Order: sequence, then C-alpha cells, then structure tokens
Amino acid sequence: MTTSSIEPAHTDGNAAAGALAEVFAVDVSAAEGVCVACGRACRMAQARLYGRGPGLVLRCPGCDHVLLRWVTSDHDAWLDLRGVRALRIERSP
Ligand SMILES: [Zn+2]
Repeated sequence: MTTSSIEPAHTDGNAAAGALAEVFAVDVSAAEGVCVACGRACRMAQARLYGRGPGLVLRCPGCDHVLLRWVTSDHDAWLDLRGVRALRIERSP
C-alpha cells in the first residue's frame, strides 16, 4: 500500500458550509471561532472537518479539540458548539 492510496481523514471546514446553512442565516465557515481548549482563533473554514460518520465534526487546527458537532435525522438537527468559546461573525456595513 502506498500513502497516495490513503484518503485523508479530514477536509477543511469549508465543506461544512452547506450543512450548517440549514440553520444559520450567515456563512458560518467565514465566522471566526475561539477554541475553548487552546484559545486559538481561526475561521471555521480553517477547522478540520471529519464527516465520515453520521454527522459532521469540526476540530481545532491548533490542538485538535472538538469545536462543533452537527448531526441530523429525518426530523431533527443537533448542533453542539460547546468547543467554541466565542464565534465572531462579520456584519455587512
Ligand atoms: Zn484548540
């Protein structure tokens, strides 16, 4: 087996934008989140997205702490943001 045949375990947070647009009126991937664990501030698009399970998990690019979990069923959507201390969303002037 070569390393080129192994798919990366994650992509960047841009890939979560479509799913999160279901509940947010703004593009969350452009928002800047502050990690609870290490205090690093980064755009959510820079977070590491793990999406092979039943939902999406965004992890901090600095310390790998879970920032966000998103799981949906036919009737519900669950959003867990406990890994984000604050979320800064730019407003249009
Ligand atoms: Zn962190």
